[in-house]
Amino acid sequence: MSKKLDVTLIPGDGIGPAITDATVRVLEAAGASFTWDRQLAGMAAVKEHGDPIPEATLESIKRTKLALKGPLETPVGKGFRSINVALRKEFDLYANLRPAKTILPKSRFENVDVVLVRENTEGLYVGVENYVKIGSDPHAVAQSVAIISRVGAERIVRYAFEYALKHGRKKVTIVHKANILKYSQGLFLEVGRQVAKEYEGRVASDDKIVDACAMELVMRPDKYDVIVTTNLFGDILSDLTSGLVGGLGLTPGANIGYDCGIFEAVHGTAPDIAGQGIANPTAVMLAGCQLLDHVGDDARANRIRAAIESVLREGKTVTRDVGGSATTEQYTDAVIARLARG
Ligand code: NAD
Repeated sequence: MSKKLDVTLIPGDGIGPAITDATVRVLEAAGASFTWDRQLAGMAAVKEHGDPIPEATLESIKRTKLALKGPLETPVGKGFRSINVALRKEFDLYANLRPAKTILPKSRFENVDVVLVRENTEGLYVGVENYVKIGSDPHAVAQSVAIISRVGAERIVRYAFEYALKHGRKKVTIVHKANILKYSQGLFLEVGRQVAKEYEGRVASDDKIVDACAMELVMRPDKYDVIVTTNLFGDILSDLTSGLVGGLGLTPGANIGYDCGIFEAVHGTAPDIAGQGIANPTAVMLAGCQLLDHVGDDARANRIRAAIESVLREGKTVTRDVGGSATTEQYTDAVIARLARG
């Protein structure tokens, strides 16, 4: 990577500033040439500007089209937008990419290497909900509408197949519930199978009903490679795959649109350990690797991943959540030292 790329850096709330600082240190030690445009969001932004997602932050992302983001606390109370939903909508971040890979030696499963591609904008999360009044009960019935469009289904399934091709993955599994939800899930499966045909001979594919997939994932996770699925199923299954490899502290998530990418950890602000210097920065570091992949610097991303994996496997200088006693800073130093050794 020769030209310096501008990236919006949102430190976030709680443990966010500590783990994003750690990530910036590692990226810089690996020679990544980013120019960081630091912007506020979450509670930090509410305190400063009275808005959890200020215009200046949105303008910065519109300009850079890249953001590395720490976890954010969405303030409770009327008038505040959900920050993640606002960002997804604003930048049409239709693909949520969550890889889960066994790193720790004492993980429940040894050979997990699953990439979950979740549709991020449609399904049951479109926010079309209402109550129906019957008699004197205004909340007698609640209904939520699931929207699946042909365009939305096609772009996410295509994204999964293109990802598989680019990253040498062997198989894409389309996960659905078309046996019951014949219209919405039926359309997703129909479109998924059409797209899969275009990749015949290059990427294998199959499809699975979501409940069977959930069971198989906890019994034989090695049977899965890339999974593509609708919004709600992706939300649940991606936490499941994180659990298979040791928890949320190790799982990054990329939110990708046509011309914008926002990279973050899957976990939240961890208020119970914030300010103690003991948070595990691995998930944001791996999100930083996804950012490097996204800008075509896969080699550097893989070097950082190798250093992280090596320090975690060795287990000497790791944080408390993964069985060690190192601070965020000591663990980060160990990753940087490993990078320097090559
Ligand atoms: P959480 O993920 O913050 O914490 C759950 C548990 O995991 C806690 O015990 C915490 O200490 C631990 N944990 C999480 N990340 C860790 C790390 N890197 N190292 C070590 N331990 C870690 O979930 P929560 O408590 O339900 O949520 C707290 C706040 O985070 C809420 O305000 C929520 O809205 C927000 N949140 C934000 C995002 C986001 O911005 N993407 C995602 C989830 C939750």
